Amino acid sequence: MIKLNHISKSFGTVDAVKDVSLEIKQGEIVCLIGPSGSGKSTVLRCIDGLEIPDSGTVEIFDEVIDFNNEASIKQARSRMGFVFQHFNLFPHMSVLDNLTLSPIQVLGMDKESAEKQAVALLKRVGLEDKKDAYPKQLSGGQKQRVAIARSLAMNPEMMLFDEPTSALDPEMVVEVLEVMKELAKDGMTMAVVTHEMGFAKEIANRVIFLEDGQIIEEKDPQTFFTNPETDRAKEFLSKII
Ligand code: ATP
Ligand code: MG
Repeated sequence: MIKLNHISKSFGTVDAVKDVSLEIKQGEIVCLIGPSGSGKSTVLRCIDGLEIPDSGTVEIFDEVIDFNNEASIKQARSRMGFVFQHFNLFPHMSVLDNLTLSPIQVLGMDKESAEKQAVALLKRVGLEDKKDAYPKQLSGGQKQRVAIARSLAMNPEMMLFDEPTSALDPEMVVEVLEVMKELAKDGMTMAVVTHEMGFAKEIANRVIFLEDGQIIEEKDPQTFFTNPETDRAKEFLSKII
């Protein structure tokens, strides 16, 4: 479904991603973990076309992205949802309007259907009573659940998450992870950058460990967490668990 073939990306003198190849199949949950600066976000952003690799190819839904063609990037991106650490909700709009704006403007949905869908999605993330609230009236965990619902409103075939719980107080992490677990159970294809090792252990089909812009280990979570192969992964895990 997703294939990165030998991608590299530098920012000035920083080689953020070095010759990374990876594949994500439909329905798979892949967790990307590794130290700060190891290139996790850059890899994710290359999948979404937010960053253009200096070399290598990106295949999304069996089509090679033509990075010279904005329409090709946009077309691929429209089939994916991206949830960031900071929720990026539109602050001046109600929750309902946050969820209906793009379906109406981009997908051409009529207002009534978009609102019906929004209410159903809010129910799915446990926030049906918040449709008229504004983002500033919500807790961090609630904002992040709205952000997930807003992504789902575009009917994505795959979801990308970049540290979706890192900015949250501990008691709010659980409610967001629960929503993500439900999505996973429903068969959503997901790539998740996370420091939540419990989540990775329980939900991931595969864990990818990055360091210094490269994939150092790629394993099923059981093997990775109980028996990491490299010293670097061992050291990382000893610090984080
Ligand atoms: P973190 O866990 O801190 O989010 P990460 O694994 O997501 O880190 P990246 O954000 O992918 O790491 O960054 C990899 C390297 O590339 C880092 O050295 C970072 O400083 C650098 N980098 C990333 N984006 C940019 C940018 N837009 N301009 C300059 N350097 C960048
Ligand atoms: Mg990052």
